[in-house]
Amino acid sequence: MSYKILTAEFMHESNTFSCIKTGEQAFRNCFFLRGAEALAERGDQNTELAGFLDIGRKYDWQIDHVLSAAAGPSGKVTTAAFDWLADPIIAAAKANHYDGILLGLHGAMVTDFCDDGEGELLQRLRRVTGDKIPIAITLDLHANVSRKMCELANIIVSYKTYPHIDMRETARHAGEILQRSLDGEIKPYTIRVGCPMREEANGARTDSESMLDWIRAARKWEQRDDAFAVSINGGFSCADIAEVGPTVLVTGEGDIDAHRAFASSLAADIWKHRHDVLNDYLDVKEAAAIAAGFVSSEGPLVIADYADNPGAGSYGDATNLLRAMLDAEITDACFGPMVDGETVQHLLAHTCGDMVEVNLGGKMDPAFGGGPLKLQVELVSLSEGHYVGTGAMIGGLQRSFGPTAVVRIGGIEILITTIAQQLLDLQQFRCFGIDPVSKRVVALKSMQHFRAEFEPIAGRVIVCDSGALSTPDYKQRQYNKVVRPMFPLDAELDDPSVPLPG
Ligand SMILES: [Zn+2]
Repeated sequence: MSYKILTAEFMHESNTFSCIKTGEQAFRNCFFLRGAEALAERGDQNTELAGFLDIGRKYDWQIDHVLSAAAGPSGKVTTAAFDWLADPIIAAAKANHYDGILLGLHGAMVTDFCDDGEGELLQRLRRVTGDKIPIAITLDLHANVSRKMCELANIIVSYKTYPHIDMRETARHAGEILQRSLDGEIKPYTIRVGCPMREEANGARTDSESMLDWIRAARKWEQRDDAFAVSINGGFSCADIAEVGPTVLVTGEGDIDAHRAFASSLAADIWKHRHDVLNDYLDVKEAAAIAAGFVSSEGPLVIADYADNPGAGSYGDATNLLRAMLDAEITDACFGPMVDGETVQHLLAHTCGDMVEVNLGGKMDPAFGGGPLKLQVELVSLSEGHYVGTGAMIGGLQRSFGPTAVVRIGGIEILITTIAQQLLDLQQFRCFGIDPVSKRVVALKSMQHFRAEFEPIAGRVIVCDSGALSTPDYKQRQYNKVVRPMFPLDAELDDPSVPLPG
């Protein structure tokens, strides 16, 4: 028989420290696509939706895809925006009888009215579907998975890659488990074991040996007859909520104690490695000094500003790194993005080639990452900011920086955008006339995703902490809701021999 399945994608990673609330426009700035539009744009790319459709074709499902929506990481989602996106999903579930539900979520959504956006969505769904039909969800590797999500979704599968390149594969995995549940072959539940850490020590980087070991162990456990998915979530540290940090999930059936013991052993190992930070976070002066002397015989020096990563909800307008590069008179370099719509608007009144005085960046919160820079720049280009990705993460997908300018000062070309986005695809420079491959120095804002496309072209990669909102120095942020003690906030958990609490 052919099962009738409701699908939707609704994703947000909320940085609760950001003063920018995430409203409807923020979703429209990234993507908001109803049914057929979503199928056309995302139905055959590296997306959750494409994975759902793969499984739907395989088992002849009748799929009703309600919508696909995501906003770039930013502050809490407003009540209005949450309802605007949740309501059509709930209404569809109420108006039709579905055999199952399959959702592509992020897992770190915080709203104005609750700290667990995904739990709230699932609760509203369960109110109309009851607890009889199976619900499967996929999550980002940086989910802060709540107990409520695990109670309300039968099946949870998270990405196993960072940079994230397995969206479609993860969705297929969840879809296969859903199919077996619909057939009555299995009755899955999901258990969760957490660690009292802000996030996994390397943010769940899958180029770290320990993370690779845990994934191997997860894959092995998934081979058992009663285990269907093991997810290792790195957590998302820029959230002041009670249920924050790394979790290990097992979606399985049967002997719950065995699954829990396995998840606990993995969590204990994550805990044991809590001091193993792979990145060597330079300050901006150190980074600029390396850039000054760098010889690019094997490709450019790539400097990643970890702290001002818009992909973690930073404003993207921090200036400390750019200031250091200007002070060090770095040449043959590019820098991006500098998120400053006000400056783009100012530049729009000028002609390419003009010298223009700008007050660049540092406007959102100069306390994090540096205040505005008063500069005389040459306007190189202006555009609407549209591009299509070509890399492993966003290949074939349309994105936009909003109105965008490229300016030049000294030896540095600066990409100034209106919409904040992490720099992770070569097209984000190339579409605006900047060829990163031919530069000596490429400064960009990203934590880890840039590695998928920029590590292969780089002669060397260095990472710096500009002091912006997502600084890895956790103590710079004020936590009120986090359950204490929490590593690395409380000294009593510093001693490496302290076992995993709980
Ligand atoms: Zn992520």
